[in-house]
Amino acid sequence: MSSTDPEHIAISKSKGITIDWKDGHSSSFALGYLREHCPCATCTGAHGTPPTTKPASSPFQMYKPALKMLDVESVGNYAIRIVWNDGHSTGIYSFEHFRRICPCEQCAGQKGSAA
Ligand SMILES: [Zn+2]
Ligand SMILES: [Zn+2]
Repeated sequence: MSSTDPEHIAISKSKGITIDWKDGHSSSFALGYLREHCPCATCTGAHGTPPTTKPASSPFQMYKPALKMLDVESVGNYAIRIVWNDGHSTGIYSFEHFRRICPCEQCAGQKGSAA
């Protein structure tokens, strides 16, 4: 339980989020990584359903503005909601989720091949 309590959260809307945990661990999440690991139902995708549908006919399809967080709101004491500049805002990132997706070598090693 206590290992998923954040001691300090540093948010940079153009770079990402760094969380220092109460157990001394520190996690840095780049924007793209966070967006890819959005925990909402749309992004995780129901079985057999493509998570995103892109309009195939847009001539501007190639143009992608740099990913940014427009807003970050705390949700209770257990999570934060990220509003992305691509219009997505339904991802509620619990601290447990953050800890689970910690990209550091130590945590990546622990995950093994279970996923
Ligand atoms: Zn999502
Ligand atoms: Zn880690």
